[in-house]
Amino acid sequence: AKADGRNTYSYYTDQLTAMARERLILEAKLRHALKHEQLECYYQAQINLTTNQIIGAELLIRWFDAERGYIAPDQFIPVAESCGLIQEIGQFVLKQACTQGQAWLKQGLPQIRLAVNVSTHQFSKGDLQQHVSRVLQQTGFPAQLLELEVTESALMEDKDRVIHTMQQLRAAGIRLAIDDFGTGYSSLAYLQQLPLDVLKVDRRFIDRITDNEDDRQISRAIIELGHTLRFEVLAEGVETAEQLALLKDMACDYYQGYYYSKPLPAEAFRQLLLAQSAM
Ligand code: C2E
Ligand code: CA
Ligand code: CA
Ligand code: CA
Repeated sequence: AKADGRNTYSYYTDQLTAMARERLILEAKLRHALKHEQLECYYQAQINLTTNQIIGAELLIRWFDAERGYIAPDQFIPVAESCGLIQEIGQFVLKQACTQGQAWLKQGLPQIRLAVNVSTHQFSKGDLQQHVSRVLQQTGFPAQLLELEVTESALMEDKDRVIHTMQQLRAAGIRLAIDDFGTGYSSLAYLQQLPLDVLKVDRRFIDRITDNEDDRQISRAIIELGHTLRFEVLAEGVETAEQLALLKDMACDYYQGYYYSKPLPAEAFRQLLLAQSAM
C-alpha cells in the first residue's frame, strides 16, 4: 500500500510538471509569435436587428502556429494573463483596430464601430485611457467608433477604480461594452453607476432561448434590464433564424453570431461590408 501511495504521488507530480512545462512552452511560443507578428485579428460582424445592417465588428485574435496549427484564444489568453504578455497582446489588437478602421474609412467604406476585448489586467492597470488616446491620436481613428469590451467579472475587482477608469474613457469619447453579461454577479445598484453603452448578453442565454418558456423569459428579462438601465443590448452567439426571430420579438438591438457570419480575416470582412453597402 505504501508503494502504491508513492506511485500516486509521483503520478500527480509528473502531471503537474507536465502542465507547468506545457505552460512554459506555450509562453515561449507566444512571445515568439508576438515578436514575429504571427498573431492576426479576425472581424465578426455586429448587426442591427431592425435594419439588418452591419453596424460594427468585434476583433477576435487568431494564432496559427506552424507546429500546432490553430491555438484558440481560450487556451492562450489565460497564459498571456499570467505571464504579463496580455499587455502586449492588448496593445497589438488595439493598434490593429485603429489602423485598419482608419484605412477602411479612408477607402470610403461605411462607418462602423470596432470593438476590442480588454482583459482584466489591462483594465486594472492605471494607464489604459492614456494608452488608448495615444493610439487614437497616432492613427486618426475617431474615438466614437472605438468600443472597448470589458467582461462582467473584470468589473468586480476594485469598483471605485473601475468606475473612475470608465469615466475617463467615456470622457475621451470611447464607447464601453460589458461582455459576457449574465455570467457574473454585478448588483443592479452597481450596474446603474457604470457609464456603459452596450450590454452583451452571454451566448449561453441565447443558446437557451429556444428551449423552453422559462429560459425565454429569463433572456427577455435580461434584455429589458439592459434597456431600463439605458444601455443598448447585443445578443452574442446567434446561430439560428429561430433565435433571431425571438430576439427581434424581445426588442433586442443588435446581434452577433455564426448565423450572420463567423469571424473573418480583414480582407474577407471588408468584402462583406462592401457587398452589404452595394445592396
Ligand atoms: P468573447 O469575447 O466572448 O468572444 C466571443 C466568442 O464567441 C469568440 O470566440 C467567437 O468566435 C465566438 N462566437 C461568435 N459567434 C458564435 C456563434 O454563433 N456560436 C458559437 N458557438 N461561438 C461564437 P473566440 O474567438 O474563440 O474567443 C474566445 C474568447 O477569447 C473571447 O470571448 C475573449 O474572451 C477572448 N479573446 C479573443 N480575442 C481576444 C483579444 O483580442 N483580447 C482579449 N483580451 N481576449 C480575447
Ligand atoms: Ca468579447
Ligand atoms: Ca462575450
Ligand atoms: Ca468569453
